[in-house]
Amino acid sequence: MTYEELLEKNRQYLWNPFTQMKEYCEDEPLIIERGEGVKLIDVKGKEYYDGNASVWVNPHGHNREEINQAIMEQLEKIAHSTLLGSANVPAILLAERLVAITPESLQKVFYSDSGATSVEVALKMAYLYWQHRGQSERQRFLSMGNAYHGDTVGAVSVGGIDRFHSAFRQLIFPVERVTYPYPYRFQGTEQECMEASLKELRTVLDEKGSEIAAIVVEPMVQGAGGLIVMPSGYLKEVEGLCRAYGTLLIVDEVATGFGRTGKMFACEHEGIEPDLLCLGKKLTGGYLPVAATLASNEIYDAFLGNHAEGKTFFHGHSYTGNQLGCAAALASLDLYEKENRIGHVQALDAWLGQLLSETAQLPHVGEVRRLGWMVGIELVQDRETKESYPWKEAMGAKVCRYARELGMLTRPLGDVITFLPPLVSSKEELQAMVSILNQAIREVTGS
Ligand SMILES: *Cc1c(COP(=O)(O)O)cnc(C)c1O
Repeated sequence: MTYEELLEKNRQYLWNPFTQMKEYCEDEPLIIERGEGVKLIDVKGKEYYDGNASVWVNPHGHNREEINQAIMEQLEKIAHSTLLGSANVPAILLAERLVAITPESLQKVFYSDSGATSVEVALKMAYLYWQHRGQSERQRFLSMGNAYHGDTVGAVSVGGIDRFHSAFRQLIFPVERVTYPYPYRFQGTEQECMEASLKELRTVLDEKGSEIAAIVVEPMVQGAGGLIVMPSGYLKEVEGLCRAYGTLLIVDEVATGFGRTGKMFACEHEGIEPDLLCLGKKLTGGYLPVAATLASNEIYDAFLGNHAEGKTFFHGHSYTGNQLGCAAALASLDLYEKENRIGHVQALDAWLGQLLSETAQLPHVGEVRRLGWMVGIELVQDRETKESYPWKEAMGAKVCRYARELGMLTRPLGDVITFLPPLVSSKEELQAMVSILNQAIREVTGS
């Protein structure tokens, strides 16, 4: 089928997520047909670097023989059977692997199908944990301003991005929020920025600590909020405050997990031990929608009892623990080991930093923020005053649209250009991608 025919059908039948369909239908949207390594190939045969790893999910590149094979082998046996009241082979084996590689505190794995549902599960577990413990006054959640935890209603409730979330204000449950430290936009030093946020956090906990079921946080880097890296030491302080005020700590590693920040999990940067951990995105090597919520034994144990006690965790999805997805995840974890994926990310860390130092010098780049291979490039109208572009100008979108012409795909978050290349990318591929980014920024911002 030709591009034109497919485009017509897209216009007629398909409603894309996070997409203004009027503009999309008027533009020449991209229609992908194949993937090979770190490149995507559209139906016209044009190749693009996958500069955001297909929205942050792909670690090892596309069309990986090892993962393809694992899925086909599983397919010969069975594609799916339910995890409600029964189990399956890859779901059990994957649970064992996940417990082995995540922080010590986490001992049980509960599956679902997306990052958002892994957060919903964590919120419900935390809420019910306190009910079962007889402390039902702990009903509220505390989250970070500007946070992103997914698009289902519970996940939106603990999210804090106005652009995405304000439309649903009447629909969501109330949450305590503290200002997330954003040093670039703070009047003062990074240390002062961190202290200001922690002070706010302590104040809320002093007033309402006994009502808080859990604090929810994206560890080390806030993702969709603009790729904002926490000041060092902040996460450890948050953990300490959870312990001091007796609330649970929910860590959302959907974006940061599986090596994105240079460690297998971002928790490792500050040695924290959460009570609940949310995983998704790269979990299946970017292949299939499986997500997981990991819980401590203490939380798991609080749900144990006779049927009549009503402590069963009443939550599940039709495709929970899907065999094909779990088989892909096991094959992906094998590749992490076999190809020393984390070692590769670390080995090229300095190289990536060096490449991006040129980006940071561009006249309309306010800041390049980065932890590992998780990069945000904030465009500004004026570098001196840090004045942003008018929102209506959609400068970030224009830069990304032009980068696509130059052969690289990524998406903007407002005027922050996201750069999260597949973790398998070579030195040369990183260089080619950054060079496209620089050219797109230079030409579109006119500098
Ligand atoms: C992407 C993301 C989610 C949501 O995951 P989906 O699979 O898109 O539902 C949740 N939390 C964080 C930190 C994310 O980056």
